[in-house]
Amino acid sequence: MKTLALMSLLLGLFLGVGSLVFARIHSSFQGFRALGYSYLLFSFGFILLAFRQYLFDFLSIVVANLTIVAGFSLLILGILKFLKDEIQIFEKVSIVLLGVMSVAFVYFTYFQNSVNARIIIISVVIACFSFFAGYKVLVNRERAILTFTRFLGFSFIYCAVIFLLRIYFTFNEAELNDVMSGGTIHAISLIALQLVTISSCFSLTISASQQLANKLAIQATIDSLTDVYNRRAFDEFANKSVLRAQREQTPISMILMDIDFFKQVNDQYGHQVGDKVLQEFSLRLKNSLRQYDILSRYGGEEFTLLLPDTDTSTAMIIAEKLRNTIAQPVFCLEDGAELAVTASFGVATIQGEDIDWQQFISLVDQALYYAKENGRNCVKLYDADLHHLPKTNNIH
Ligand code: GH3
Ligand code: MG
Ligand code: MG
Repeated sequence: MKTLALMSLLLGLFLGVGSLVFARIHSSFQGFRALGYSYLLFSFGFILLAFRQYLFDFLSIVVANLTIVAGFSLLILGILKFLKDEIQIFEKVSIVLLGVMSVAFVYFTYFQNSVNARIIIISVVIACFSFFAGYKVLVNRERAILTFTRFLGFSFIYCAVIFLLRIYFTFNEAELNDVMSGGTIHAISLIALQLVTISSCFSLTISASQQLANKLAIQATIDSLTDVYNRRAFDEFANKSVLRAQREQTPISMILMDIDFFKQVNDQYGHQVGDKVLQEFSLRLKNSLRQYDILSRYGGEEFTLLLPDTDTSTAMIIAEKLRNTIAQPVFCLEDGAELAVTASFGVATIQGEDIDWQQFISLVDQALYYAKENGRNCVKLYDADLHHLPKTNNIH
C-alpha cells in the first residue's frame, strides 16, 4: 500500500505539471488546468497519507482524504469542461458532498474512531463520482474522439465497481488499524484510482491532439472565405475522380466559372463588398449541388465544379441552371448594397479519353475563355473544334 501511495504521489506530480504546461500551450482547450490541479491535489493528499506517523491526525486523515476527494471532483470537472458539458450542478453537488464528508470524517476520527467507517465513506463518494463521470463520458457522442472517450468512460466504470467491492469487503472485515496496512482490495482500489488518473490524462491529451489534427485538415482543404474546397483539395479530388472515371469507363464533367467584371465590383464597392459577393456566390452554388458534386474555389473569383458520372448534356443543364441562379436575383449584401453579378461558364466532359486531370482542366479553361470571348454570362462547351463552333450552337 505504501509503495502504491508513493507511486500515486509521483504520478500526480508528473501528470499535474504536464497538464498545467499543456493548458498553457493549448489555451483553446478547456479543462486541462482543472485536470492539472486535480493531479497535484491527489499528490498532496497522498503525501499527507504517507507521512501519517509524523503528522497530526487532522492533517493525515481528515485533510488527506478530503484533498484526494477534492482532487477527484476537480478531475471530473476538468473532463466535463473539456467535453463542454454542464458543470454547475456537479460543482454544487461536489461542494455539498465535501462538506458532509468532512463532518463525517471528523466524527469517525475524534468521536468514534473507525478506519473502516472512513474507508466506506470515501469509497461511496468515489464510486458515485466515478459512475457519474463514466456515464457522462460514455454518452458523449463526439465522433472524432470516440475511441478515447470510451476508454476513459470504461476506466471510470471499472473504478466505480472496484470501490463498490471495497465497500462490500470493508463492511465484512475486522476493524483496521491503519488504511496503509489494508489487504488486497484496498491495494486494487488505489490501482483503480491510478488507472483513472493515467487514462484521463492520456485520453484528453490524445483527444485534444486529434481535434487539432482535424482542424488542421480542414484548414488545409477548405477555403476560409467561401467555405468550399480550396484548389489543393480540388486537384486531389480531380486526380482521383478522373482516374476512377477512366477505370470504370464512365463520363466525368467539369464546370469552370468565373465572375464577370469582378474587378469593377471591387473598384466600385470596395474589396470587402467584393468578398461578400464571393461568399454569396459560393453559397448559391452550394445550395444547387448534388450529393457527389465537388465545388471548389480555384482562384480569386474562379470556381470549379467536378461532376462525376455526368455526361455532357446533364453538365450543360447544370451549368445553365447555375448561370441562372447567379444572374437572376440581385445580390443583396448586409450593408444594403444591391448589385447584379453574372458569371461565365466553361464545360468539358471526358469519357474514355486518355488524358489526365490537368489536361482536363485546360480543356474546360478553353471553354471558359470562349464564354468570355462570346459576351460573358453564358455557358460554353469544350469541343475539339471549339474555335470553329458557330454561335447558334451556344446555349446562351
Ligand atoms: P472578367 O469578366 O474578364 O473575368 O473580368 P474580371 O474583372 O472578373 O477579371 P480579372 O481577372 O481581371 O479580375 C479578377 C479580380 O478578382 C481581380 C481581383 O482583385 C479580384 N479578386 C481576386 N480574389 C479576390 C478576393 O479574395 N476578394 C476580392 N474582393 N476580390 C478578389
Ligand atoms: Mg472574372
Ligand atoms: Mg478570373
